[in-house]
Amino acid sequence: MAAEKTRAIILKVVEFSETSCIVTLFTEDFGKVGALAKGARRPKGPFEGAIDLLALIRIVFLRKSSDALDLLTEAKLERRFRSAQRELARLYAGYYVAELLTELTERGDPHPALFQAADRTLHALDTGAPLAETIVRFETVALKEVGHLPSLDTCVICGRPVAATGRVPFGMIAGGVLCDQCRPGRRGVVSVSSAVIDTLRNATSKNSEGDAPAIAPAKRGELRAVMNNYFAHLIGHKLRTSDLLGGATNQ
Ligand SMILES: [Zn+2]
Repeated sequence: MAAEKTRAIILKVVEFSETSCIVTLFTEDFGKVGALAKGARRPKGPFEGAIDLLALIRIVFLRKSSDALDLLTEAKLERRFRSAQRELARLYAGYYVAELLTELTERGDPHPALFQAADRTLHALDTGAPLAETIVRFETVALKEVGHLPSLDTCVICGRPVAATGRVPFGMIAGGVLCDQCRPGRRGVVSVSSAVIDTLRNATSKNSEGDAPAIAPAKRGELRAVMNNYFAHLIGHKLRTSDLLGGATNQ
């Protein structure tokens, strides 16, 4: 059993016994981890209140064999997700980030860049950054990181450039925009406004630094519908928090 040190974001906390809980963590160096936190529910337990949904923590854990839960031995709080106490819309956006990380990544498959993006996103949500923009930027970084960023400039089938004018055919199953030749007979195609395609292109091209490009309120509903549909196709079911997020980002 090796003791590993890393940073982690808490995705889920489930009570396990009167004094312990099972935590799902997205770690910087080891990807998603499920660990038993013994004594975490005791008032003066070993983790000193660090076990809190969406908190950023520094941990030491013991890795077990492939099927068994890992064992959390130390957890030190670096930053609590404070939106939970402040504003429901930001709390929902935080839940959505947790669900995306849970659904898009596998246990033990590290994605340090995605961890850093999630950390930045939760911090941005906590410090009043614009909701819709912050979320779409995180979505595009996450999709890029797991290799499912939709093709937005060129036809996903044949690679011809597709101009973003009027409404653009978008293949949910194919994974991106389609040219006129490739569209006929294809399943799972929706018509997306060029404004939303442009928004996604912007979020994708400027996703590492600076402020997220602003999204006009009139485009937000369609943008959410497109992203919800895309994630549902990718994951195989609708995300539980997508409806909560839709309400939140329209504000
Ligand atoms: Zn084509």
